[in-house]
Amino acid sequence: MYRPSHHGSIEVIVGPMYSGKSEELIRRLKRAQIAKQKVLVFKPAIDDRYSIEDIVSHNGSKLKAVRIAHAKDILEYIEKDTQVVGIDEVQFFDMEIVQICKDLADRGVRVIAAGLDMDFRGEPFGPTPALVAIAEFADKLSAICMTCGEPAHRTQRLINEKPANYSDPIILVGATESYEARCRLHHEVPN
Ligand code: ADP
Repeated sequence: MYRPSHHGSIEVIVGPMYSGKSEELIRRLKRAQIAKQKVLVFKPAIDDRYSIEDIVSHNGSKLKAVRIAHAKDILEYIEKDTQVVGIDEVQFFDMEIVQICKDLADRGVRVIAAGLDMDFRGEPFGPTPALVAIAEFADKLSAICMTCGEPAHRTQRLINEKPANYSDPIILVGATESYEARCRLHHEVPN
């Protein structure tokens, strides 16, 4: 991929769970660090507490990231010499993240965001689709379908090992929940 190094831009890495989004994000950010660029990495907080935590991919690679509660918190960390901003799990941020990525890129920052493009129902997920629309570069990755071994673009939600219903609440107390990658044919969303 040709990328002018002195202009800002937005790169988006999308796909279902297990497609290697975090792996690819970490790879790009580590290369920027090797190039001695000033890199900042963010991920969404589940609560309001600030913390430094690793982004960890399913194959074990990791990188330190700042956990933030709101998209606009990113601006508090940006310095004049920030060159690269990485964002993981971008689908969990509010829509304001789109404008923030645009402003950063306009200022000359290389923004790299990774996230789910579809939720477990197969519907567009949060701000990800809007980010893809305004990005210079977008990579849609696939995982492997756990049912047939074909490329998988969807995330199957399972509750007590059965496909979750369309209307099942996001938090289900007492249930065992899991996710797996599935192709269109084997992705199931009852009712
Ligand atoms: P994502 O951020 O998209 O969830 P990760 O980068 O965390 O993905 O993990 C990708 C890794 O997950 C792969 O390199 C592979 O080792 C592992 N993996 C586990 N299940 C699958 C699957 N069904 N398809 C592809 N990779 C899988």
